[in-house]
Amino acid sequence: MKKKLILLENLQALDSAIDGKRASQNTLRAENSEREQEVSSLRQALEADIAQQAGLERQKAELEVSLDAELENIKRSESHVKEIRTNKEFQAVGREISTARKQVSELEEQILALTSRIEEFQVSLDARRSELNAIEEQNSNAISEKEAVIAVFQGEIDSASNNREEIIKQLPANLVRRYHQLRDQRRGQALAEVQGGSCLGCNMHLPPQLYNTLFRGDDMIFCPHCQRILILKQEQAQ
Ligand SMILES: [Zn+2]
Repeated sequence: MKKKLILLENLQALDSAIDGKRASQNTLRAENSEREQEVSSLRQALEADIAQQAGLERQKAELEVSLDAELENIKRSESHVKEIRTNKEFQAVGREISTARKQVSELEEQILALTSRIEEFQVSLDARRSELNAIEEQNSNAISEKEAVIAVFQGEIDSASNNREEIIKQLPANLVRRYHQLRDQRRGQALAEVQGGSCLGCNMHLPPQLYNTLFRGDDMIFCPHCQRILILKQEQAQ
């Protein structure tokens, strides 16, 4: 009976260690995914602004096409002036030219304003792009470091898992089943130490007779309150 209890204690210690390392891995993974999300939302915002910049460039190109068309109109009207015979025609062409010139100067103003807006925006985009690259590099280093720690934990989990399989082979199947049921029901702790006549799993006082049986160490004793497998530490039993 003592041997089984020692094996169960070792099993519990391994399982607690595995649980702890898995929880740490999950925390690290959550931190990594938070970092990834942070970078990805910054990148999305930057890409939206790059698209906006492209929109401004397109707008500018359209204005330049209109400007060229107006300049062409002026050239054509001016070449007609030589063929004009009447004063009325002359006035009409003059009106056309002055309207086109007015249009040209408005377009030029718009293009100029748009050009300086595009330039300013480009400066801020470049600054943000290099800032984002720096954050990305920083994050990818931090993520790699955490992934390395996760891998170390995994190695430890794998070796603990092998050890627990070895222990399980040495225990009766029904006891292993009971152990797993208790772990599921009792937040991972299937065993409880007894101290001062109480179960440390649930802090309830144990009946004296049960305590005596436990002290002899002949039987496997379950706490009547929380059903955990009770263990009495060797130094106390002696
Ligand atoms: Zn108990």
